[in-house]
This record gives sequence, C-alpha cells and structure tokens, in this order.
Amino acid sequence: MSDCIFCAIASRDIHGRIVHETEHSLAFLDVNPLAPGHTLVVPKDHYARLDDMPDEISADLFGAVDELVPRVEDAVDADASNVGINNGPAAGQEVEHVHVHIVPRFEDDGGSP
Ligand code: 5GP
Ligand code: ZN
Repeated sequence: MSDCIFCAIASRDIHGRIVHETEHSLAFLDVNPLAPGHTLVVPKDHYARLDDMPDEISADLFGAVDELVPRVEDAVDADASNVGINNGPAAGQEVEHVHVHIVPRFEDDGGSP
C-alpha cells in the first residue's frame, strides 16, 4: 500500500533494522524504542487490523512472534517482555499496518511501558 511506512520497510524501499524474516512476516527494530531491543513484527503485505489477515498470514505472524520473543529477550538480557498489539486507532494504533510489539522488560525498569 502506498504511503504505508511498514510496507515501505517490507519492500526495502526505506531502511529498517531487520532482525528476522519468514515467508509472510518481517521483524525489525522500532525506530523509537520503549526499551533496548524493542522489536516490531509485521505481515509483509498490508493489513490494517488483525481480523483483516487471512489465517495463513496470521499463523505465520504469530509463529514468528513465538520464535522471536525468547531471542529478543536473550539479545538484550531481559527478564521478561510485553508482547502486544494496538488494534485500531482508538486503541493507540498509529501505523495502520498490523504490528506486534515485543518490548523487553527488566526487573528494575520501573513498571508499565
Ligand atoms: P503503534 O502506536 O501504531 O502501535 O506503534 C507504532 C510503532 O511504530 C511506534 O512504536 C513507532 O516508534 C514505530 N515506528 C513508526 N515509524 C517507524 C519507522 O519508520 N520505522 C520503524 N522501525 N518504526 C517506526
Ligand atoms: Zn502497510
């Protein structure tokens, strides 16, 4: 989709710090991280909301998330992580291309992101 920043990263039209790729999904570092290692996992094709994604794409995306969570935590020596989706503008979704946040958390980091 034109004018979508995550489509532009997925098509390599703009630079993203890509950390993982599957057939249908891409993971890259958040440009404005809430914590070191804050990673976004997106479908390569444009879907605005969770229920817009076909099952195959959804399975690929969440499979990638499942695989990445421990790897992201290990990479930054985190104790845990917040894994979440803002699904729709009223829920805080600013980029209207489905993305899963993986935000590493640390015992002493002081609470909710
Ligand atoms: P949302 O509020 O839509 O759930 O989160 C959007 C996220 O995308 C934010 O954490 C923001 O920092 C990140 N973001 C916005 N533009 C870019 C970009 O151009 N590149 C990367 N890597 N992340 C972006
Ligand atoms: Zn898009």
